[in-house]
Amino acid sequence: MTTKATTFTCPTCGKQRPLHERVHADRLHRSVVARLRSDSPNWDGTLTCREDARRCRIALLRETFETQRGGVATLESSVLERMAERQIIAKNLSVESAGLGERVADRVASFGGSWTFLGLFSGVLLAWIGSNLFLLLNAFDPYPFILLNLVLSCLAAVQAPVIMMSQNRQSVKDRERAEHDYEINLKAELEVQLLHDKLDHLLLVEWQKLMEIQAIQTEMLEDLAPPSSRSAD
Ligand SMILES: [Zn+2]
Repeated sequence: MTTKATTFTCPTCGKQRPLHERVHADRLHRSVVARLRSDSPNWDGTLTCREDARRCRIALLRETFETQRGGVATLESSVLERMAERQIIAKNLSVESAGLGERVADRVASFGGSWTFLGLFSGVLLAWIGSNLFLLLNAFDPYPFILLNLVLSCLAAVQAPVIMMSQNRQSVKDRERAEHDYEINLKAELEVQLLHDKLDHLLLVEWQKLMEIQAIQTEMLEDLAPPSSRSAD
């Protein structure tokens, strides 16, 4: 009793692959076939596997980058690599791991830039100035409020670096987000381009096959016609 094989040895990479990953060369774009031929010179030009076909397409894309842009940047290279490995690029950037210091800086900066802070601070200032104006003899910081000046200077000195820390973090996050968006857009563009190439090629192949079938059918119809009508032509 013979069992049906579920794998095949890929002629281009020599690996055992599942049968459903087998690809006939006439289903591939001629540029992909040419690339496969140059990569494995002993290939008979019949079968390959999906992985190899994809690898060749990505390599062709890389060549396109090199010819059109004069090189492949790090970001583009990483997109191409992850495309070859069929990895998903999109990720949720809002889930992030910030350290304690960074989280505190964010909180302080967001509180320092709120109406609550402005209201509270105005209240403290008015109370300070008011109490020192009315308690003329017992004033702890008489006019022109030198201690208040010192407190305000200290507050500004502490607040400025905290706000800058928070802003730096924000700009880093923005840059990461922009890079991530570019990667996703680039991957989408390249995948759509690959799909177009595949579809165009398939349409062409199907069209040629249909024409062949039509020619055969016409011949068969001619054979079916009675001999008298054929001699009349
Ligand atoms: Zn293979």
